[in-house]
Amino acid sequence: MKRSITESLVANTESLEWECRRCQHTLGPVAENYKKGCLIAQRDPKEIWEPLIEGVLNFSYDATWSRIVEFYCPGCGALLEVEMLPPGHPLTHDIELDLTMFTDENSADRSSKDSAQ
Ligand SMILES: [Zn+2]
Repeated sequence: MKRSITESLVANTESLEWECRRCQHTLGPVAENYKKGCLIAQRDPKEIWEPLIEGVLNFSYDATWSRIVEFYCPGCGALLEVEMLPPGHPLTHDIELDLTMFTDENSADRSSKDSAQ
């Protein structure tokens, strides 16, 4: 069984792995951070929010303080997540699933199939 976790991520409750919703590429175990299985790019925020005026105070972000970090599926190249983090910040772990829910769900699914026979 597959459970939608975000609009881009699916948790496979049998293999216990993250999958891309678009191409079903495996992104690693659901017990770990799916971002470890992604292609990661960092961008200067000024690529998106250009300075409006000249000078230090220019209504844009300072690239020495912030980066746009993008997470892509290695299978299809879909953009899965975007974050704004300070340069050198470790990966954030934003989704932690209760794996006992999957175990209970799989055993309930099996017992309902057994009783139907
Ligand atoms: Zn994909």
